[in-house]
Amino acid sequence: MIVELISVGTEILLGNIVNTNANYLSQACAMLGMSLYYQVVVGDNPGRLLDTIKTALSRSDIIILTGGLGPTQDDLTKETTARAIGRSLCMDERSKHRILEYFNTIYKSGTYGSSDNEAGINDAVTAAYARITDNNWKQAMTIEGSLVLDNDNGTAPGYIVEDKGKLIILLPGPPNEMKPMFEAHVLPHLKKLTDRTFVSRMVKICGIGESRAETMILDLIEQQDNPTIAPYAKTGEVHIRITASAHDEEEANRLLQPVLDKLTERFGDNIYTLDEKETLESVVIKLLANRGLNLSVAESCTGGLLASRIVSIPGASMVFNTGFVTYSNEAKRKNLGVKEKTLGKYGAVSSQTVREMAEGACLATGSSVSAAITGIAGPGGGTAEKPVGLVYIACRVNGETTVRELHLKGSRDKIREQSVIYTLDLIRRCLLASDS
Ligand code: ATP
Repeated sequence: MIVELISVGTEILLGNIVNTNANYLSQACAMLGMSLYYQVVVGDNPGRLLDTIKTALSRSDIIILTGGLGPTQDDLTKETTARAIGRSLCMDERSKHRILEYFNTIYKSGTYGSSDNEAGINDAVTAAYARITDNNWKQAMTIEGSLVLDNDNGTAPGYIVEDKGKLIILLPGPPNEMKPMFEAHVLPHLKKLTDRTFVSRMVKICGIGESRAETMILDLIEQQDNPTIAPYAKTGEVHIRITASAHDEEEANRLLQPVLDKLTERFGDNIYTLDEKETLESVVIKLLANRGLNLSVAESCTGGLLASRIVSIPGASMVFNTGFVTYSNEAKRKNLGVKEKTLGKYGAVSSQTVREMAEGACLATGSSVSAAITGIAGPGGGTAEKPVGLVYIACRVNGETTVRELHLKGSRDKIREQSVIYTLDLIRRCLLASDS
């Protein structure tokens, strides 16, 4: 089954927006075991779009188009697809009703300025009608004989059209409309066309660089067939996706298990999760919560980035106490009790200072666990002795402090981001070690 993706929009051609829809849909097709052979980007030009659709119909079985389904004159995907297959457009009463409902809801919720009085709300339907411009009804027109896909996050419906054994799928451009529509309506349709089930697991690793991680499993990568093994490098982390194709989920899981076992054996405690949805910070929060521990952090060069990543996880309040941003020496002294002598003798970026920062954070807050970061994020400020990228991190668990020296590379942001990742990983490792 050959799939072709057509992304419609001059904004994409001009580089004003990144084609994240193509990225998402390519991955979805790979998961379905469908061969995506062509990806085309075409502007909002009817002639060129028509040619693109005709070419796709001549060489592919499934054509997925995104964008250009909106109400304006330059939204031409539906009209041009109809032309390419010689069909006409007709009014879809259900879509018309849904458009009215959508405007009715946003009117009532005040998105477009509602009236406070009862009469205003009771009159919402009439008001909604008044607010729908003629071009909105363009979105209620469907290609003759197509399946209309509801858009729960906007007004432009999607469409599935079958024509001479080919499947043409039209989806709205905004990713927050396209993805839910694809998952709810298109995925089940496409799954019926393949007799395979694809199950994948993500092995998330921290503490080993990408090339070393790849070398450690080179033999598995070279022998891979089913499951497939795909490593992805992330900042400070390596993720390995293993995907098995089978007749059912049980068989897929049976195929995945031996590979998962091998990876677990080779990477050991460098693996922080096998769950795609987990992140380093969510794992750290779980470890703290399971042990009834409470965390405070003290940051210098990361300026609150660590605290921010922790509190981005729902439920962080169960375990997170205080975040100190102690950028100056004075702040380190005043808030964390770092000794004047330590700062004077070893400097703000030193293992001695980071140790006192972590200890001071516990002392000042009463937390049983703390983490601290101090370093030179650059671009300026480095010396031969203490170059840009030199970062010290520390973690204190139940009275024991562990310090690590890092030599990081990259821009200021990259160094700060990596510092946070390695600190989260250090907290994770110290918590695990404290159990034994
Ligand atoms: P609308 O109803 O909003 O007009 P549409 O289906 O007509 O939707 P477009 O007008 O082509 O879609 O694009 C609307 C917006 O959707 C773009 O400004 C962009 O933000 C986003 N978008 C469109 N195509 C893509 C894409 N391929 N990848 C990422 N974002 C996209």
